[in-house]
Amino acid sequence: MGKWVYLFEEGNASMKDLLGGKGAGLAEMTNIGLPVPPGFTITTEVCNLYLENGDKVIEELWPMVLEKVKVIEERTGKKFGAQSGLPLLFSVRSGAKFSMPGMMDTVLNIGLNDEIVELFSKESGNPRLAYDSYRRLLQMFGDIVLGMGIHPFENELEIIKAQKGIKNDVELSVDDLKELVGRYKKIYESEGKVFPQDPFVQLKMAIEAVFKSWNVPRAISYRKINNIPDNLGTAVNVVSMVFGNMGDDSATGVAFTRDPKTGEKGVFGEYLLDAQGEDVVAGIRTPKPISDLKDDMPEVYNELLNICKVLEDHYKDMQDIEFTIEKGKLYMLQVRTGKRTPGAAVKLAMDFLKEGLISEEEAILRVEPSQVDFLLHPRIDVSSKLKSIAKGLGASPGAATGKVVFDADLAAKMGDEDVILVRPETVPDDIHGLAAAKGVLTARGGMTSHAAVVARGMGKPAVVGAESIKIDLNERSFTVNGETIKEFDVITIDGTSGNVFKGVAPLIMPELSEDLQDLLVLADKVAKIQVRANADTPEDARRSYEFGAKGIGLCRTEHMFMAQDRLPAMQEMIVAETIEERKAALEKLLPMQREDFYGIFKEMKGYPVIIRLLDPPLHEFLPKREILKEEIAQHEKSGEKELVEKKKRLLRRAETLKESNPMMGFRGCRLGLVYPEINEMQVRAILEAAAMVIKEGERVFPEIMVPLVGHINEIRLVREKLEEVAKEVISEQGVQIPYLFGTMIELPRAALRADEIAKYAKFFSFGTNDLTQMTFGFSRDDAESKFLPVYLERGILPVNPFQTLDRDGVGELMKIAVERGRCANADLEIGICGEHGGDPDSIAFCYEIGLNYVSCSPFRVPVARLAAARATILAKVRYESDK
Ligand code: PEP
Ligand code: MG
Repeated sequence: MGKWVYLFEEGNASMKDLLGGKGAGLAEMTNIGLPVPPGFTITTEVCNLYLENGDKVIEELWPMVLEKVKVIEERTGKKFGAQSGLPLLFSVRSGAKFSMPGMMDTVLNIGLNDEIVELFSKESGNPRLAYDSYRRLLQMFGDIVLGMGIHPFENELEIIKAQKGIKNDVELSVDDLKELVGRYKKIYESEGKVFPQDPFVQLKMAIEAVFKSWNVPRAISYRKINNIPDNLGTAVNVVSMVFGNMGDDSATGVAFTRDPKTGEKGVFGEYLLDAQGEDVVAGIRTPKPISDLKDDMPEVYNELLNICKVLEDHYKDMQDIEFTIEKGKLYMLQVRTGKRTPGAAVKLAMDFLKEGLISEEEAILRVEPSQVDFLLHPRIDVSSKLKSIAKGLGASPGAATGKVVFDADLAAKMGDEDVILVRPETVPDDIHGLAAAKGVLTARGGMTSHAAVVARGMGKPAVVGAESIKIDLNERSFTVNGETIKEFDVITIDGTSGNVFKGVAPLIMPELSEDLQDLLVLADKVAKIQVRANADTPEDARRSYEFGAKGIGLCRTEHMFMAQDRLPAMQEMIVAETIEERKAALEKLLPMQREDFYGIFKEMKGYPVIIRLLDPPLHEFLPKREILKEEIAQHEKSGEKELVEKKKRLLRRAETLKESNPMMGFRGCRLGLVYPEINEMQVRAILEAAAMVIKEGERVFPEIMVPLVGHINEIRLVREKLEEVAKEVISEQGVQIPYLFGTMIELPRAALRADEIAKYAKFFSFGTNDLTQMTFGFSRDDAESKFLPVYLERGILPVNPFQTLDRDGVGELMKIAVERGRCANADLEIGICGEHGGDPDSIAFCYEIGLNYVSCSPFRVPVARLAAARATILAKVRYESDK
């Protein structure tokens, strides 16, 4: 293991693995000449070593820490544990590689004791500062280092405030603070704990406590939710204290270099005069907006704006900073890439691109596909007459409806139910509840409060600081304007406007913003894999086209037969006992199908449209047998003989079509082989519709897809028959119609025999829903409700294979099919149309194995476009770094 402890000037931004995000940021700011209080960072490796080996690591570390303390003493001209002069105090702060806001611990004001506090008071000429700092140290040390919890201290603070008849902490006099110190010491005594008077012991214990905080339950939950590995460890930053609580020329604050909610330009943040770091985020006093600093301290305000610009130019991204102003001097205490809403992420990426700070590829990488997904989420229809019952700050946009729940544990226990977590304010321990809830509503706190930051990070709607709601945690209800909302009542929150509604509010579907459209155009330019949509109707096709699909990858024709006006003809066809009867029923369906296809072709304006021939088992089009039996009994009672006969016929057919394993039964191309007239009607409808479009002078490109093929003879026979129909229609219509025949690859056998099958198919489309089902032997209808949740919970499978492609098994079959298929037919067009076609990780896999396109539901198209571009860029980056 290399060096254990780094002075800030010895590190830089690229050392996040070792120094954590905070340490690397402090080092970088120091090196670019920004005002950072001197300090040093103990590496994440030391944390891991400590977590494995315990105390002896601290003993080995200690001399190195002492050496750095000496350097800091020289730099600041102050002494740690001094008997004279202004004493040096430290803050000890955690800082992992990935930011985990509020999850781990910080202790401020280390170095004070009963004597030094007096020295500090005298030398600083500010007794209030000294005793306020001391009582904070006692509080944080007791809570974090000695595990006494925050509550006894907060209680005592509330009691003393009530006794003195004051509201704000700042109104406590020096004597009050001295008294509070005394009372805090009593808490230590009553809990049998000792506050170490030796500053060096304090420092050592605080460092150890920060190491340990890596493994507190809330940090573990946060890592699990955010996929942060458990073995990274936290660094420990030891920073010389600067004081924001030295009076009205001092302050502490947090800011974003641009608005994290909208991405708008302009520094956005909050500060508190005469306060120390934790006060701003803790939501104890309501902070002032950063723009007020212009009046309070104009010079510092300008300096802050300037630093924000320097940081943005340097990091080429929006930054989240913490600062302290000590007697009119500005200090930077943290910088990190700012968390942002999905909408802001898109705007920032496009703005930074326009400002020439980042490349097109970088802009694409700045937005996660999940953020685009979020932007396609519904919003509340403001034209609805629903009246809001309360208003807070819209801290994380989007709308959410759910049952009110007042504690995080309960929210986490409610399983699949939609809940809104309602809290006076959220604290880091609520993280599991936030993860489980659809959204969060708090009565207190600002835009940078914990609830706001975490919700934004998770992309969940949040309304914070809705001060008009009065929460009664004992009664488990809240009241607002005389109205009481009880636990489990349903509310809707709008994280965009900050409104809260009783009940379910009507939602509207979002449109793509201009920035998002521009980003997606860039994505299309970069992506080497196309995106099509799964669309069954002209409306779906229109939406797909608007969302940028470059074709339809799957039109499931069965949905067209389910419509009210078509089902009777479909049922006639199914119960037909002779070919003539069947053909007569199909004659009725033909014009309807033709109209459907015509509509879809028109919407897709010449892009390819893959239409799949009928796939599901026929019994799906018949009423359930139990229902038929009931109906027969009823009709018999009322003497409707004709209806009785009709239903009995349906029932007889339903009985004969009954199967033990319908998903492996009489479906797919098997239907067309037994009843070719169905496919013939469909092919005729497709090509007649295409001819209509061509005759109108427009372009059309139908691709006819045969489902569930497993054997070469299946595709060969189906195709031979249908080519005859195609020839017939083309000669009837007297126009040339470009069309292709292809097949789905959704059976393992089809993948293995792809070379044979490719002789009769111009294109392949992976039906990975069935392919996953058939490869794992998991029924796609039952697995997800029966045993898959247990598999995922116990880690038997890493992910749900129906959501994210199983690269090792199903993916291997796909690879084989691609290789063998292209070997037989180099021009083979290959895509995917199972649900995985909209999943970013699966899209990356499809790109890697050389597919031409992915196809997904219309609302996933924008997500898939971005994912396709990112997959292309990231594969290039990997290739280049492997070289
Ligand atoms: C598939 O199996 O992946 C597929 C797209 O077809 P369906 O879901 O309609 O069976
Ligand atoms: Mg299928």
